[in-house]
Amino acid sequence: MNQTMISSLVLLVEDDAEIALLLERYLVRSGYRTVRASTGQTALAHLQMLRPDLVVLDVGLPDIDGFELLARIRGSSPVPVIFVSAMDDDTDKLLGLKLGADDYVTKPFNPQEVVARVGAVLKRTRGIAGGEVIRHDGIEVQLDSHVAIVSTESGRVELPLTVTEFRLLVCFVRSPFKTFERASLLDACMPESDALDRTVDTHIANLRRKLADCGQGGYIATIRGIGYRFARSTSV
Ligand code: CA
Repeated sequence: MNQTMISSLVLLVEDDAEIALLLERYLVRSGYRTVRASTGQTALAHLQMLRPDLVVLDVGLPDIDGFELLARIRGSSPVPVIFVSAMDDDTDKLLGLKLGADDYVTKPFNPQEVVARVGAVLKRTRGIAGGEVIRHDGIEVQLDSHVAIVSTESGRVELPLTVTEFRLLVCFVRSPFKTFERASLLDACMPESDALDRTVDTHIANLRRKLADCGQGGYIATIRGIGYRFARSTSV
């Protein structure tokens, strides 16, 4: 089945009804299905019941801090998340990305830009599809099911990766020992974003931590002035 024929479901978490309606109108016009939530509680309920393909999350919500909600979503789901921040503030952006969001937009935004970001993030999520499995040492990446598994002393453990982290891991496991420039990693994992180099650093830090949490630490070496290399460091 052609995946582009399936209309993706976008969960819009936004307490401002006017903005939600506007975004909904643009998304529907572009062929998406949408569901709205004006509170964090409703968002979590929709997420569990409806399993949306992507979440657009306004971080300014009445009942729960949007960043806390983002962390809770990430605790249970790898669904792509684009967060909407009221301020063009680097601290906010970095916090959102650190918590595992895949992209961000700042208010005031052009709804068409949000629609474009939604399309790009979904494309990135699905671009990985293909029945291949790739491996390096004790790390296995299943491209079709979007699952990364590490072998530990107590068995095989699935890594709880975001789409962006998964995409980075795919790059690394495909070409272990290759030194990647930050720009090429950015291209591979967030091609639609105007993100800064620091953005890659944030995702790398998250990926490193998650690997380390599963007993696979020391894998991603920082190559000063260039970028990163995937190889278990013994002497660096
Ligand atoms: Ca709001």
